[in-house]
Amino acid sequence: MADETIFSKIIRHEIPSDIRYQDDDITVFADIAPKAKVHLLIVPNRVIPSVNELEDGDAALIGKMVLTAKRIAKEMGFAENGYRLVINCGKDGGQEVPHLHLHLLGGEKLRIVGA
Ligand code: 5GP
Repeated sequence: MADETIFSKIIRHEIPSDIRYQDDDITVFADIAPKAKVHLLIVPNRVIPSVNELEDGDAALIGKMVLTAKRIAKEMGFAENGYRLVINCGKDGGQEVPHLHLHLLGGEKLRIVGA
């Protein structure tokens, strides 16, 4: 089994965090150092270190993560204005926590990066 990170403790409610949604597959919580007015992390409950460890059988899980981000953006009222979904992978991609996570950034006009 892959090594656990602080995210597994958050998922198991062992340390305090601002959890916005949870089911058998995924947990959504607020980023501790928000880079936008709204900055949530959508995380699979099972430890998958990064995109590199995803397998064909994880397609539904990834789809659920994206659809959950969309649903939350709609519920929070900023979906129509737009938002950003980001997955960092590995050292060069800037991934700090080796437990796959989808960043949902929004609630304001975001600075364009990489243009
Ligand atoms: P990465 O760089 O791996 O794509 O993103 C990791 C994110 O996790 C960062 O935005 C960072 O602020 C957030 N983070 C790191 N440690 C914690 C923590 O203990 N609690 C929460 N809620 N977020 C964390």
